[in-house]
Amino acid sequence: ITKDDPVVQRLFTGIKEGKRAALAESITLVESTHPKKKAQAQVLLTELLEDAHKSRRRSIKGISSFRIGLSGPPGAGKSTFIEAFGKYLTGQQHKVAVLAVDPSSNTTGGSLLGDKTRMPELSRDMNAYIRPSPSGGTLGGVTRCTNDAVVLCEGAGYDIILIETIGVGQSEYAVADMVDMFVLLIPPAGGDELQGIKKGIVEVADLVVINKSDGDLVPASKRIQAEYISALKFVRPKSNYWTCSVSRISSLTKEGIPELWQKMKEFCEVMSKYGEIEHRRQKQHKVWMWNHIRHSILQLFKEHPAISKHIAYLEHMVAKGAMTPGYAADILLQKFSKNFDDNK
Ligand code: GDP
Repeated sequence: ITKDDPVVQRLFTGIKEGKRAALAESITLVESTHPKKKAQAQVLLTELLEDAHKSRRRSIKGISSFRIGLSGPPGAGKSTFIEAFGKYLTGQQHKVAVLAVDPSSNTTGGSLLGDKTRMPELSRDMNAYIRPSPSGGTLGGVTRCTNDAVVLCEGAGYDIILIETIGVGQSEYAVADMVDMFVLLIPPAGGDELQGIKKGIVEVADLVVINKSDGDLVPASKRIQAEYISALKFVRPKSNYWTCSVSRISSLTKEGIPELWQKMKEFCEVMSKYGEIEHRRQKQHKVWMWNHIRHSILQLFKEHPAISKHIAYLEHMVAKGAMTPGYAADILLQKFSKNFDDNK
C-alpha cells in the first residue's frame, strides 16, 4: 500500500476538506483488524503526520491543537459537562472532537445512539464530532485506536480534542498519557468519596473540577473543594510551571465554565511557552510506541501455537501453588524463544 492507494487518497482529501464522513470512515479504518485496511490506515496516518509537520513548522506556537483528558467516577456528570463545555467551545469558534476510551465497551462504531442521548445538543453541532470508544476488549487495543483517532481528528481541523474515560481501572492512566492536560471531574459527594477516588489519579491531574456546584449542592461543593485543596498540598507537582488547582462549576447552570476555559487556556499558554507541551508529547509518543510493542508481543505470545496449548495447565499449577509464577513464566518464555530460534 502506498499513498497512491485510491482509498488512502480519497480519505486524505476528505479529511483535509473537513468532511465528517471521511473522518468517520478513517477512524473505522484504524480500528479495523483486517491486514489490508490496517496497512491503508498506517499510510493515511503517515500522510497526515507529514502534512501536520509541514504546517507546524509554519505555525508560531508549535501546537495546532489542545488535547484534554477527562476522567471522573460514574455519575460525576461527565456527559453533562462535555455537552455544556463542548457547546461553549464551539460558540467560541473552536472545532471540538470528543473521543471516548472504554475498554469494556461492546458497542460497534455504528451505535452512536448512546452518545446522541448522552450529548444531544453537541451531537447535532456541526463544529463538534463525537466518537464512541472502539470496541475490542483490551485497553492496549483501545488506546492504540484512540491515539490514531487523535491524529485523524487533528488532520480534519479539530483544534480541541476531548478524551473521556468511561470504564474504571487503568484507562485513566492511559488517557493521561495521551493528552496535554488531564482533568479530573468530581461530584460533591460525602467525604468518603475522596477515598473512593484513587489517590494516584489525583497525582496525574493538572486540574480538579468539582461539578454540580449549584443550588443545594453549593455548600458540599465548597467542602469538597477545600478537601481537595488540602489533599493536593501533599502531591508533588507534575510540572515546574503549573500547580494543580481546584475549580467549582455547574454543568447544569453553566456557571464557572468560562472561567474554567480561561484556566485551561492559561495552562496551554504557560506550558507551550516553556516547551512543556512539546516535551510531554514527545515523551508520550515514545510511551505509545512501547505500549503498542508490548501489546502486540503479548498477543503474539499468547496466540503462539507452541505457547497457547500450555497456558491453561501452567496457570492452573501456578494458581494452586504447585509451581512458582516465575518458573511457569520461564517455561513459557523458553518455549517461545526456542520456537523463534527454530524459525530463523
Ligand atoms: P457521567 O456518568 O459522569 O457521564 O454523569 P452524567 O453526565 O450522566 O450525570 C449524572 C447525573 O448528574 C445526571 O442526572 C445529571 O443530570 C446530573 N448532573 C450532571 N451535571 C450536573 C450539575 O452540574 N449539577 C447538577 N445539579 N446535576 C448535574
